[in-house]
Amino acid sequence: MPDPLPLSALAHLLFCRRRAALVHVENAWAESVATAEGRVLHHKVDSDPRLERRGDVLVARMLPLRSERLGLFGVADSVEFHRDEAGARLPGVAGRWRPFPVEYKRGKLRREAGYLVQLCAQGMCLEEMLGVDVPAGALFFGTNRRRLAVNLDQDLRAHVQAAAEDLHGLIRSESTPAAEYERAKCAACSMKSLCLPGCSTGGAPVAAYLRRMLECEEDA
Ligand code: SF4
Repeated sequence: MPDPLPLSALAHLLFCRRRAALVHVENAWAESVATAEGRVLHHKVDSDPRLERRGDVLVARMLPLRSERLGLFGVADSVEFHRDEAGARLPGVAGRWRPFPVEYKRGKLRREAGYLVQLCAQGMCLEEMLGVDVPAGALFFGTNRRRLAVNLDQDLRAHVQAAAEDLHGLIRSESTPAAEYERAKCAACSMKSLCLPGCSTGGAPVAAYLRRMLECEEDA
């Protein structure tokens, strides 16, 4: 693998390949209400103490992550360490512990493929760093404070590997894919004012192009 890329780039890619290229090839970025709220939620996580003990569970905040195999690095919002005789030894702490990544998301509980892959990538980083299996993790949703348990199974791991390879290929290519307009997705994307997804007709009739432009205006 070439130089490691941030886990956040993987999240962009899973949402939209063009978005990943706009941010990581063209160095463009635009904030939206959603990204600002996400930052506030993560800041709340950031401002908590870095390590706390809750009975038989240790909670580490803002834990740096890295995987040579995936070529990714980043920071985990929160990693719980559960007592487990087959777990990893941690510096300065007695016993053995099994990591369990918990990723914070804005909005209400939902099962989005991109979120699952992002969480699984964190689990794979922890496995490589600590030399123990990480079979599960969870997504925590800020709006209704609900938690979704996620099994980091083989299908998810294969998806992470493929997405990481795709991301490295995209950045290496130094090219930005054309926009593939999807109304709901593009309406929710903070990059739409830079991307202008409705501006390519893609060979479509002019009427369809104009309809898309009107939709963009309504969604802006
Ligand atoms: S506006 Fe749509 S096509 Fe453009 S980057 Fe965002 S999701 Fe991708």
